[in-house]
Amino acid sequence: MSRWFFLPVLFLVLAGNMAAAMPREEAVPGGVVLVSLPDDLQGPVLYEGKHVLVWRDRARAVALVGVPLAAAPGVHQLELAGGARLPFLIHHKRYPQQRLQLPPRMVNPPQDQLARIAAESTRLAGARESYRLHAPESLTLKLPVCGRLSTPFGLRRVLNGEPRQSHMGWDVAAPAGTVVHAPLSGLVLLAEPMYFSGNTVVLDHGSGLITLYGHLDSMAVHPSEQVAAGSPIGRVGRTGRATGPHLHFALALNGTWVNPDAFLAGELRRCAVPG
Ligand SMILES: [Zn+2]
Repeated sequence: MSRWFFLPVLFLVLAGNMAAAMPREEAVPGGVVLVSLPDDLQGPVLYEGKHVLVWRDRARAVALVGVPLAAAPGVHQLELAGGARLPFLIHHKRYPQQRLQLPPRMVNPPQDQLARIAAESTRLAGARESYRLHAPESLTLKLPVCGRLSTPFGLRRVLNGEPRQSHMGWDVAAPAGTVVHAPLSGLVLLAEPMYFSGNTVVLDHGSGLITLYGHLDSMAVHPSEQVAAGSPIGRVGRTGRATGPHLHFALALNGTWVNPDAFLAGELRRCAVPG
């Protein structure tokens, strides 16, 4: 058989491997959109004024755009150097709603904690919007802890009849004390106790790819520390506002929380605990 027969097969295998490295595209609020960029592109790519992660390999350059959960469906635009614009479409998505009745003291924080909560919110926003000119080592992430997805991204919560902020990450249920591993190498931006998310670690993987770990029982890292992929960063707990032990895991691109599903859907299937 001619060796030329194998060339298309080889190409398909290579193309498949390349595709496997990219996150899953979902052009909706809270999703990640992949926009192919011109080969000769120079300079930064911006979306709503924020730097976007540009992934380059030998074959192409692609912008990985995090779409805010509050984005309106319709045509959105990337801003390229020199004033050029690249349009892309965002479709509508309705996330499920959850209504809960809780004792009022669990819904509204006490007055004497409001200043602390505001300061923490500012620090968290700063970490979420961090952008370093350093490409992530990979776009293939490992799930930081194996477990069942108990609360998905985007769930719209109505507490005692009042709409609250949607759930901006995944809750992965796992026994208290389970070790949480860094899904990629990164720089520790934050590692501190917070009112809502308890012991919280935020990692910066480069180019605006940020991950957050909440409700940890203990933290194994310090701010400014560099961590390797797979190294322990803490243990699962129920610190802060949590009804049981779980990891709140959140992932941001270009300063906005997106559905971790884009990077980790396969991982969840691989290591989910039955039940
Ligand atoms: Zn959560």
